[in-house]
Amino acid sequence: MDALPLAAAKPAIPPAFFGERVTWVHHWTDKQFSFRCTRDPALRFVAGQFAMIGLMVDGKPLVRAYSMVSPPWDEELEFLSIKVQNGPLTSRLQHIKAGDTVLIGKKPTGTLLIENLLPGKTLWMVSTGTGLAPFMSLIREPEVYERYEHVVLMHGVREVKELAYHDYIGNDLPAHEFLGEMLQGKLLYYPTVTREAFPTQGRVTTLLESGKACADLGLPPLSPEHDRVMLCGSEAMNADVKALLEARGFTEGSNSEPGTYVVEKAFVTK
Ligand SMILES: Cc1cc2nc3c(=O)[nH]c(=O)nc-3n(C[C@H](O)[C@H](O)[C@H](O)COP(=O)(O)OP(=O)(O)OC[C@H]3O[C@@H](n4cnc5c(N)ncnc54)[C@H](O)[C@@H]3O)c2cc1C
Repeated sequence: MDALPLAAAKPAIPPAFFGERVTWVHHWTDKQFSFRCTRDPALRFVAGQFAMIGLMVDGKPLVRAYSMVSPPWDEELEFLSIKVQNGPLTSRLQHIKAGDTVLIGKKPTGTLLIENLLPGKTLWMVSTGTGLAPFMSLIREPEVYERYEHVVLMHGVREVKELAYHDYIGNDLPAHEFLGEMLQGKLLYYPTVTREAFPTQGRVTTLLESGKACADLGLPPLSPEHDRVMLCGSEAMNADVKALLEARGFTEGSNSEPGTYVVEKAFVTK
C-alpha cells in the first residue's frame, strides 16, 4: 500500500500524553459540557486528581489541567468542561465529537486526596461550577465510604441548569448496582443556586458561615474535631471558605502532611 501523503498524516502524539478516542459528548448548557474517552490501561490515578488534557493544534499539544470526573475503577475517562468563548483550548474542545482524538497527560496529580486528610467523621466536598469534577470521582470511590460516616457534596451554581450531574447524583447513583447500598444514608447531596428559585438558595460560603448547611443536613456545626473539608472552586470561593475554616481551627493538608482540609483551584483567573 502507498504511504499516506505527508499533509494527510495525523501528528504524532507527544510522549508525555496518551492519544485517546472520544466515545461520548454531552452538552449541559452553552457554557458546560462533559465527555468520555478511552483510557489506556497504563494510566493510573487516585480519585480527586487532575491531569493535563487537550488537543493537538497546529502540530503541537494545547493542554490544560482537568480533574477526572470518572472514578479510578472506570475503564473509560470522563471530564466536565467549561466553554470559554475565546479560551485557547475550550473554544476548540467544545466542538469534539465521538471518534476524535484527545490528549491525556500520563502523570495525574493533585491535593484533593483522602490520604491528605486526617481521620474524621464527616467529609465535606465543597464546590462551585466545574469544581464539582474531582468530587464526582471521589463520591464513587468506595474507600471514601469506609473512612467516613457522612459524605457531603455541596455544589454551588448560578442557575439551575448549571447543576451538572444533578439527576445522576440524586437518582442514578443511589440505584447503582455496586455503590448504591454503600452510599445510602451516607452521601448527602446539597446543591445550591444563587440566581434562581431552588429549594436551597445562596452562596456556598454564606450557607457554611451561617450554619444553615449543617442545620439543613442535620449535622453539628463545622469543627476540626470531626469534620474534614475538600474545597474546589473559584479562587475567591476557595479563599473565603479557607478563611472561614482557619478561623475555626482547621489546618490545610498537603501531599507531604495531612490536615483537616485540602484545597484545589477549579480554574485560574488570568
Ligand atoms: C487544578 C486545576 C483543575 C482544573 N480542572 C478543570 C475541570 O475539571 N474542568 C474545567 O472545565 N476546567 C478545569 N480547569 C481549568 C482549565 O485548566 C482551563 O482553564 C479551562 O479548560 C479553559 O481553558 P482555555 O484554554 O479555553 O482558557 P484559559 O485561557 O485557560 O482560561 C481563560 C479564562 O476562563 C476562565 N475559566 C477557565 N476555566 C474555567 C472554569 N472551569 N470555570 C469557570 N471559568 C473558567 C478564567 O477566568 C480564565 O482566566 C482546571 C484548572 C486547574 C488549575
